[in-house]
Formats: sequence, structure tokens, C-alpha cells
Amino acid sequence: MFTPKYKLYIDGKWVNSNSGKTFPSLNPAKPKQILGKFQKGNEVDVEKAVEAAEKAFDSWSNTPAPKRGLIILKAAELLKKNKEKLAKLMTREMGKVIAEARGDVQEAIDMAEYMAGEGRRLFGHTTPSELKDKFCMTMRMPVGVYGLITPWNFPLAIPAWKIFPALICGNTVVFKPSSDTPLCATKMVEILEKAGLPKGVVNLVTGPGGSVGMSIVRHGKIRGISFTGSKTTGEMIVKEAGLKKVGLELGGKNAIIVMDDANLNLALDGVIWGGYGTTGQRCTAASRVIVHEKIKEKFEIKLVHRIKRLRLGNGLNPKTDVGPLVNKAAQEKSMNYIGIGLREGARILIGGKIPKMKGFFFEPTLFTNCTIDMRVAQEEIFGPIVSVIPVKDFDEAIDVMNSVEYGLSSAIYTEDIRKAFLAIQHIEAGLTYVNSSTIGSEVHLPFGGVKHTGNGTREGGIEGINEFSETKTVYVDYSGKLQKAQIDIE
Ligand code: NAD
Repeated sequence: MFTPKYKLYIDGKWVNSNSGKTFPSLNPAKPKQILGKFQKGNEVDVEKAVEAAEKAFDSWSNTPAPKRGLIILKAAELLKKNKEKLAKLMTREMGKVIAEARGDVQEAIDMAEYMAGEGRRLFGHTTPSELKDKFCMTMRMPVGVYGLITPWNFPLAIPAWKIFPALICGNTVVFKPSSDTPLCATKMVEILEKAGLPKGVVNLVTGPGGSVGMSIVRHGKIRGISFTGSKTTGEMIVKEAGLKKVGLELGGKNAIIVMDDANLNLALDGVIWGGYGTTGQRCTAASRVIVHEKIKEKFEIKLVHRIKRLRLGNGLNPKTDVGPLVNKAAQEKSMNYIGIGLREGARILIGGKIPKMKGFFFEPTLFTNCTIDMRVAQEEIFGPIVSVIPVKDFDEAIDVMNSVEYGLSSAIYTEDIRKAFLAIQHIEAGLTYVNSSTIGSEVHLPFGGVKHTGNGTREGGIEGINEFSETKTVYVDYSGKLQKAQIDIE
């Protein structure tokens, strides 16, 4: 069977890697199906990409931001026009079910539209001076050449959350996607090219994290790194990046609290969506359910019933609820955690096995009787495995929620407004949902986490613009004499 071969995109040209080597991208629902061969980039390719991005920077950063916005808007239109095609391709490349893949493309469209509009804002602020006849303001400056390193679980949305704000702020880009989703990344760059992005403004280098990713992180001419991925990689990046501006969006061990006064059917919908949506492979996935002991048994019976109804299969079938895991290693990791959970004393209520299917599938699994010291209640599994942790009251629920090293997303189901607000106040997380699952970010609101989920940056919304721009403070003294701040005050 013919396997298409894709190239790197450097300085406006599609080129082969200096390595002369390629790697395949597989369909996780049918691992024998190879979607394409991709360039195994190396340090030399990164060097060329950085050179191109550096060369393009002057002209791009001096292009009026509203004009940059028009190119981004054109990219939004092309994404819209190709939405269905891109969604299908995404399902084939990384397995998420087609409805979710459409949502992923839509998120990229939303971000492009939002950032295109930002071209006519990019607000700074003005403020009075402490001295007479002096004007004070802030303005935004681009950072320079940006290295963008992305994971596979949102193959278009996550690149969009980085590429569009980086571009609107006037930066140029070297983009390294995950080796599990190089096809989606290539399609994104093809769209940017068609939208009229000048050569060198975005450069694509596919290839291994350890070589391509690390050369980007260490490169002296790259001024900013925006990374989304695992905590382990994030820690390496922060050590190697030196004095670059670094944004890290890392893992999560998110939880849903279900109080005894909760609307149980609503909570069940939230747990099913949060725990098993995207086969549990979202950074915001709800892999812990903290349940009030008074309703635990009833809730678990209903939950098992709902899990039984989940249909496992190829995501292209619109009836499928849960697609495959992204690759064999992810399948093995989930299986490994089943052993860990059982050895620690957790009990499986449903699932826990690799089904007899061709792809990298894993049964939606529910562990019960978990305690906070168990690894299944502490570590990010990134599979369809949910751990139930019973609690006796609200205070204990908050303690359990906060007992992990991560702090990305959280949710509480309660009909008690007081408990809802106390949860908002006391949960240590970047996102808290009330009576809604841990999933569902919108592009115009900040996204990111506390503790080991990152280093304090946020993407999306105006805070996403902050990540990709530098602030310049400007003082204009029109008094005609030397005025000294802090000293010449009357
Ligand atoms: P990963 O860390 O293995 O890889 C992410 C990217 O980093 C890939 O492009 C990879 O090639 C690259 N990389 C790997 N080693 C590198 C190195 N030494 N130097 C530079 N780059 C390197 O993560 P993954 O498995 O692709 O993604 C899953 C993880 O991403 C999960 O932990 C998930 O929680 C996290 N994630 C976080 C968010 C968020 O916004 N917080 C969103 C999605 C996913």
C-alpha cells in the first residue's frame, strides 16, 4: 500500500530532514494502518529553522498587528472549511472519537478567531504619573523566536493555543509536535501557508523530543519556549532552557467531589465525561472521584451501570463512546496501574483488562475503596481508569482533593451554595467547575494549573497574550526639565 511521505517546513519550503531518516504515524485503532512517513528531524534541521525564524522576525514583528490578524482569520476560515476532513484525520491518527475530534478542530478555529480580533486590541494600559507633565503607559513587545513543543492529545487545539497568540504578538515560531500526531501538525502548517503566512514565520520540525525538542530548548537564539506535556519532560525543559521565557502546561490528577446533596444523575454524567472522555487522556481528565460515604454505594451502582453501557471501538464510528489509547506504551501503562492498584488494596468494580480487539484499547475501569496514599490516587495514569475515594464530610473532601502534587482542574457537585463557594475558595487548582465536569475550557478564559501542573503561566484569554509578549513601560516627560521620581514630589 502507498504510504505518503511528509516533509519539514523550513523558511517557506517543504524539505527533507538532514538525517535522511523517517518515522511512521500509526492509527491506534488499526495499528497496521500507517498514515504516513514523517521526517526524523535533527539538530541541523533545528538550526536551519531557527535561522529562518530569526530572519523573518523583523518583517513580521513590524507588520501591523491588525494585518497579522487578517492572516490568522484566513487560517480560521480554512480550518472551518476543512473541519470534517481534519476531524476524521485526527481520529485516525490518535484515536479520539469523531465528535471530540470535531471539538478539537473547533477549539483551533475559536482560538484563531479570538486571536485575530486581538490584533486590534493588544492593549497596554495608561496610568497617571506621580509627577506633573509626565505620561505613563505600557505597551506589548514580541518576545522573539518562540519554540513551541506540543503533545498528541489535542493535536490541533494545543498547537492553536500556542501558534495563534505567538503570531499575533509578533513572534516567529519553530514548532515541534508530538511524534504521535505529526500528520495533524503538518495539516495545520499547510493551512497557515495557504492563509498567506510569510516564509520563515512558522517552521515545522518533526522528530524526537530528546534531539529536536532539546535542541530547541537549548538554542541560544530562541527567546521563549511554550511547552505542553508531561511533568517529567517539563522539569527537564526548565533545567535546560536557561534564561528564556518558559511556559509549562503539565499533568494533572484532577478530581470530582460528589457531595451527599448532589444531583446524582448530573454528577454521573460529569464523571462519565470527565473520566472516560478522550479515553481518559486529557490533562483535565477526572481520574479521581471523591464521594461522600452516605451516597457512595448508590453512586457506584449507578456508575458501574453507566460504564457498562460505554461502547469501545474505532472513533470513526459515531456510536463509539471510548476510542483506543494513543499507542502500545499507553496501553501497557494502564495495565501496569491495574496491578499497582490491586496490590495496594483497591478493588476493581468494572474493567481492568485489555479487550480482545486489534487496536490499543483498554476497558473503562473503576477502582473503589481507594485511599490518598495509593499510587492510583496520586499519579497521572492518562487512561480510562477512575479511582473512587470515599470521604465522611466536606472538609475531608477538600483535603483529599488537595492531597496530590498537581493542581489543574477540579469539580464539585452539590446543591449547597455555601459548599460550592467554600470549594471555589479552598481547592488548589487552576480551574474549578461547579456542577459541571473537569473538562470544558473556552479559549477566551485563562487555562493552566497550580503546583506541579506548571510554572504559573496561563494560556488562553488575555493571559495567553501575556505569555507570548513582553511588557515595555514607557515614560514621556513633557515638562521640559529634569524631574526625579520619588525625589521631586511636592
Ligand atoms: P511528553 O512530555 O512525553 O511529550 C510532549 C512533547 O515534548 C512531545 O512533542 C515530545 O516529543 C516532546 N519531548 C519529549 N522529550 C523531550 C525533551 N527531552 N526535550 C524537549 N521536548 C521533549 O507528553 P505527551 O505524552 O505527549 O503528553 C501527555 C502529557 O501532556 C500528560 O502529562 C498531560 O497531562 C499533559 N498535557 C497537559 C496539558 C495542559 O494544558 N496542562 C494539556 C495536554 C496534555
